[in-house]
Amino acid sequence: MIEVEFYGAAKTVTGSNYLVKTPEATFIVDCGMFQGPEVEGRNLEPYEYDASKVDFVLLTHAHIDHSGMLPKLYKAGFRGKIYATSNTIQITELLLFDSAKIQESNYQSGNFYGKYTQKVALAYNSSDAEQTIRLLQPVQFDEEFEIMPGIRTKFLHAGHILGAASIEVTIANEGEERQIMFSGDIGRVEQPLIPGFDKDYKSTPDYIFIEALYGGLEHPKRSESIEEMVKIINRTISRGGNAYIPAFSVQRTQEILKFLKDAIEAGDLDKDIPVWLDSPLAQKVSKIYTAALQHNEDSIFYFDSLRFVNRYSQSRGIQKTTGQIVLAGSGMADGGRIMNHLTTGLDKKNNSVIFVGYQAAGTIGRELTDGHKEITIGKTKIHVSADIRYLHGFSSHGDTSDYLQWIKRHKSEKLKKVFLVHAEEDRSKALDLELDQIGIMESYIPDWKEKVTLE
Ligand SMILES: [Zn+2]
Repeated sequence: MIEVEFYGAAKTVTGSNYLVKTPEATFIVDCGMFQGPEVEGRNLEPYEYDASKVDFVLLTHAHIDHSGMLPKLYKAGFRGKIYATSNTIQITELLLFDSAKIQESNYQSGNFYGKYTQKVALAYNSSDAEQTIRLLQPVQFDEEFEIMPGIRTKFLHAGHILGAASIEVTIANEGEERQIMFSGDIGRVEQPLIPGFDKDYKSTPDYIFIEALYGGLEHPKRSESIEEMVKIINRTISRGGNAYIPAFSVQRTQEILKFLKDAIEAGDLDKDIPVWLDSPLAQKVSKIYTAALQHNEDSIFYFDSLRFVNRYSQSRGIQKTTGQIVLAGSGMADGGRIMNHLTTGLDKKNNSVIFVGYQAAGTIGRELTDGHKEITIGKTKIHVSADIRYLHGFSSHGDTSDYLQWIKRHKSEKLKKVFLVHAEEDRSKALDLELDQIGIMESYIPDWKEKVTLE
C-alpha cells in the first residue's frame, strides 16, 4: 500500500511538502516554507511525522517555498539524503543560508516589514542550514536512478528555473509497480535563458501531482510586458525619476537583466542610464546561471551600464541620486534591500515601481499593486505618489495551455488520478474543468494534512 499525506501546497500555493509511505520506505517530496501572513505560522508547528524516520527527500527545485524548511527537517532529526539536480543544489545552498540569516537578523532586531510576525523568526539558524546542505546529493537529469531496492526516480526538465525538475517515481508495491509523477513547478513552453520541459517526452504514470497556480488563466505575451517595461523606464528617466524593479533573485533578475541588455542593444533604452543590481544574493545566483549556460564570456545578461551594489552604505548612496534603474529583492517587497528604496522613493511622483512577478496576499507588493495609497514600512507611514505598475507577462510558471501540454504527455488508460496542488482552491477547480475537456476526469484537490491511499 502507498499512502500520501499533504503537509503543504494543498489548497494554498506555498509550503510544498508531500509525505509518501511505501512498503519499503518513507520519503518526502519537497520541504518548503509557507509564505504570507495567513499561513506562515505553520512554519513553526512541529511536524506531524517523525522526521528521523524519513528515509530521503526528493527536491524538485531550489525556490524557498519548495526547499526552505529542509533545515527544520534536519533540526527535527532527519539525516537522510536530499536528492536534487546539481544546479538546484547550488542555488538551494545560497537560498537556505540567506533564509537563515534573515531569520536570525529579524529575530535579533525585532524588525519586520509588512505584517510578518516575529513568530516565524527562528524556524532554524545558519548552523542548521549548513548541516542540511551536507545532505544534498546530486542526480542527473533524464537518467533513471535507483535510490533503494524498490524505488527508482527520474528527474525531468520542468523549465521554470535553472535546475528545476519534475520527478517520476517508480515504486514496487506488493509485486506490482506504481508510478507517480510530481510536476514540481512547471515552466512555460517558451522561456528565456533555460530550456522548457520536453514536449515530446512520454510516460504513463498511475498518479500525477500537478501544480495549478495559474489554472484557468493565460499569461499575456512576454514581448508586450518587455515593451511596456522599457516604455515606463524611458518615461520615468525623462522626468528625472528612478525606476525601481523589485525582482526575485533566481531567474527573474537574470531575465530582466537580459531584457534590459537586449533593449540597450536595440537602441530602445539609453546605454548611459545606470542600472544598479542591489542584491548580493542575485549576483551570486547570476554567477551560477552564467556558469551553467555558457562556458566563456559572461555576456548573457551583463552590459556596460550595469553596476553592482555590495556594501550597505553603497545601497544608501544610490537612494540619494536620480535618473537610474534599481533592481533589488525581494520581488514581493516583503523584505530585502528594495524596502529602503521604497521607503525613500514611494512618495515622489517622478519615480516608478515596476512589479514583475507574483504578489502574495499580505505583502507590501500586493498592497501597492492593489492600489493602496498609504502603506506602512516598518514604522514609517508613506503616501504613495510614485507610478506603480504590475506587468504580468514575466511569470516563470506555466499557464493553462502549458499545463495541458505538459499533462498530455502522461495521459493513458493507466492514469488513475490527478492531484491538483500548489494553488488556491479556485485555480485548482479551474484547471480541473480544463482537464475534463481533454478527457482526464479523475482529479482531486487535497486539503492540508489530508491523507490518501494510492491503490
Ligand atoms: Zn518555483
